[in-house]
Amino acid sequence: MPSSSATTAIIGAGIAGLACARTLHDAGCPVTLFDKGRGPGGRMSSRHLPDAVVDLGAQFFSVRDHAFHQQVNDWQNAGCVAPWPQTLWQAEDAGWQPHRDALERFIGTPRMSSVARHLAQGLNLATDTRIERLEREAKCWWLIDTQGERHGPFGRVVISAPSPQAQALVAPHDSALAEACEAVIQRPCWTAWARFETPLPSLPGVDDDWQAVRLPPGPLRFVSRNDHKPGRGSQGESLSLLAHLEWSEANLEAKPDAIAELLLAAFRAALPSGTHLPKPSALGAHRWRYAQPDVFAQGEAVNRDYRLSPEGLALCGDGWRGPRVEDAWLSGRHLGEALRDADQRHHP
Ligand SMILES: Cc1cc2nc3c(=O)[nH]c(=O)nc-3n(C[C@H](O)[C@H](O)[C@H](O)COP(=O)(O)OP(=O)(O)OC[C@H]3O[C@@H](n4cnc5c(N)ncnc54)[C@H](O)[C@@H]3O)c2cc1C
Repeated sequence: MPSSSATTAIIGAGIAGLACARTLHDAGCPVTLFDKGRGPGGRMSSRHLPDAVVDLGAQFFSVRDHAFHQQVNDWQNAGCVAPWPQTLWQAEDAGWQPHRDALERFIGTPRMSSVARHLAQGLNLATDTRIERLEREAKCWWLIDTQGERHGPFGRVVISAPSPQAQALVAPHDSALAEACEAVIQRPCWTAWARFETPLPSLPGVDDDWQAVRLPPGPLRFVSRNDHKPGRGSQGESLSLLAHLEWSEANLEAKPDAIAELLLAAFRAALPSGTHLPKPSALGAHRWRYAQPDVFAQGEAVNRDYRLSPEGLALCGDGWRGPRVEDAWLSGRHLGEALRDADQRHHP
């Protein structure tokens, strides 16, 4: 049995925590993940409605880095990722125009959270477990959840929660890490969803199979058709409506029902004139209080995209590198490699 000094607890089973866990697990290093959510995925999660699955967070992810490119190839081979969207539009005053660029974009299939579920296979993951505080005892870490249960002992603790939530956990133990968390600004975002009993009407000048549209400054920034995503052909018509970050900030404390109505009205206004949008059979909104880092931690002297203290407290996630799924994955992967290498030095 491994000694507690070699075991790692990871708080947060979003893409960063999972990338870190996967790297350690695949190298034979014991790791246990904890997440307050019902399943893994974090900001890549999806919601089940009757007859539809809607993505609430990231709608797609782009690929720039070589290592991430290889990972995405593996996911494609495993069938949990596919290129999307293939038809992207830009709403303008003069009408909708096709948007084309050279960026490769992908989505989880049959839903965004499938990527996280794939990464979590074979890992020790406790869901519905919100860690409230950490305790240090005899050079080991214990995790205390909101039910008062103690989990441990662990040799180290990785926190991949958004930086404001990570700050609350590290502050009693490490003021330097807490200060680093405070410097990262995570901005909020509202996402609404609308489910329709009939297909959306044809839009003049726009292909009937349009998949997603970007919008100019205003309440909305991006709208995607969930039933036009790979692997979801049999579900009914539904939209994910993502608000602009500025608008989300200005409307942060509004009621979800009111937000959903406003975002749907903004979409109606962005449709080519003369288009009649049917009344949705289900409409709702989800608030991401910490959606995307606006100011993320700049690399230290050695340009690290994670933080690691001598006492074994570590931080990773998008806030330590940049505002995308790819950044979060790279941050978790790099931290996992550093911890794995340290383990192999101490227990060759
Ligand atoms: C609306 C929206 C749209 C986006 N659009 C895009 C996009 O188009 N392209 C793109 O690349 N990126 C996009 N992003 C950003 C992308 O989703 C994130 O950068 C990425 O998913 C962050 O992953 P993470 O693992 O760092 O954090 P998270 O996914 O937030 O994971 C952290 C996990 O920690 C858990 N947690 C927090 N506190 C605790 C606790 N105390 N105890 C236990 N568990 C805890 C949470 O439940 C969560 O699962 C979007 C994000 C949002 C919200």
